[in-house]
Amino acid sequence: MKYIDEFRDGDLARGLAAAIRREARPERNYHLMEFCGGHTHAISRYGIKDLLPGNVRMVHGPGCPVCVLPIGRIDNAIELAARPGLILCTYADTMRVPASHGLSLLKAKARGADIRMIYSSADALRIAREHPGRDVVFFAIGFETTTPPTAVAILQAQAQRLGNFSVFCNHVLTPAAIANILESPEVRDLGTVPLDGFVGPAHVSTVIGSQPYEYFAQEYQRPVVIAGFEPLDVMQAILMLVRQCNDGRAEVENEFTRAVTRDGNVKAKALVADVFELRRTFEWRGLGEVPYSALQIKERYRAFDAEARYGITYRSVPDHKACECGAILRGVKKPADCKVFGTVCTPENPIGSCMVSSEGACAAHYTYGRYNDVAATPVL
Ligand code: SF4
Repeated sequence: MKYIDEFRDGDLARGLAAAIRREARPERNYHLMEFCGGHTHAISRYGIKDLLPGNVRMVHGPGCPVCVLPIGRIDNAIELAARPGLILCTYADTMRVPASHGLSLLKAKARGADIRMIYSSADALRIAREHPGRDVVFFAIGFETTTPPTAVAILQAQAQRLGNFSVFCNHVLTPAAIANILESPEVRDLGTVPLDGFVGPAHVSTVIGSQPYEYFAQEYQRPVVIAGFEPLDVMQAILMLVRQCNDGRAEVENEFTRAVTRDGNVKAKALVADVFELRRTFEWRGLGEVPYSALQIKERYRAFDAEARYGITYRSVPDHKACECGAILRGVKKPADCKVFGTVCTPENPIGSCMVSSEGACAAHYTYGRYNDVAATPVL
């Protein structure tokens, strides 16, 4: 299959692994964070860690949209769905994220709430058209990849005068999260998460381009290599990061040239800029409140903003006390460090969000049997 098979070639993978082993200097360590859950998934699925020398360590990042959604936002969605006559639409993984009081959207649906699993924002619009007498709310989550379709849905709802449609906007931004990880006290003061470079997002970068990472690479002096989600993409990116570390460079390089340009998708960015503006602050699971890290709907589209329409008030809720998702999302711990990993917490019975989506670090490790990974990165 074009653009798939040639990026899964075993001989090429062995050649890249040999180059990484040859070029990684034995006297130093390379701590490389894969920001995206898609990369975490690829690393677990294809056993990429097994091909790397011991001093090249991959650290999970927070780039799984379901994982970073805090419990309070799921609680908000469940409260919305409890309103008489209201239909709440959302993506499948979101429905299984644990909320307060042992609930999830799936359990709320089982108790009678009208919550519908959709594949795209267009499905939510269709449901609103089919039920003119009922309020339909799209519970929108995700990074920059899923933001443009939400913008299109709002513009189409306005054009079609769909007064019963609104969006509960929870879209978050990648560059702000990467900067926050490096500014966190663990990194700044304690050095418990030594990060030498980043494997940059694939899908997100098709939209925003490589340019937004340039400030970050310069300011924090960390190299970024944007990579696709196939195993050879990831291995090539690791080799490029090892080379940058060896050379003392902190540049943005683009391994995923078949899909990512410096400017990204200009049309999609214009749509997003028309409909959304920066939110002053947003709570991320694992990262806490991160300034200017999320989007809200602009005043001129207020009629389609569920937060304004229903007076949604956000309340921060702590994670389950056994769950280590917060530390895992910051790269401080690994899934196997969690006492309930693979026993009480499994994909069938997730205790935390990292076990829900296939992009979650815990789910990826569980699914591909990576239980015996060396536990947490040592404190320096
Ligand atoms: S194994 Fe489950 S409870 Fe533990 S950190 Fe992962 S999601 Fe949270």
